[in-house]
Amino acid sequence: MPKETIFHKIVNGDIPADVVYQDDDVLIFKDIHPKAPTHLLLIAKRKEDFVQSIADLTDATSHVPALLISKAQIFAKEHGIDGYKLTFHVGEGGGQEVFYLHLHFLSQQTI
Ligand code: 5GP
Repeated sequence: MPKETIFHKIVNGDIPADVVYQDDDVLIFKDIHPKAPTHLLLIAKRKEDFVQSIADLTDATSHVPALLISKAQIFAKEHGIDGYKLTFHVGEGGGQEVFYLHLHFLSQQTI
């Protein structure tokens, strides 16, 4: 069993997060150490969509990156953000610290 991460605790409501959007599939919350005026993290909420990293995707979870990117695009459009960066850190060598797949959303614009 993969180790429970801080993002599991956020999804389960065990620790607080500054949530800016959620639906049945995705949670979007502010990064606790923002590296841009807007720095959000997008994660999949469903247990069956959990995957540690891009490196661990399987046929069952290969839709998850597209789900996160699609929600980021909708969120940006709804908030009038027209310039942003989307990043996945992959593995410790790629700067990944939390092993719960997440998409970084960074923008110089504020929400
Ligand atoms: P990674 O380097 O794994 O791609 O990114 C993990 C991100 O999660 C980091 O940017 C870090 O600041 C953020 N983070 C770590 N712990 C917490 C937390 O408890 N709450 C929130 N909101 N963000 C966190």
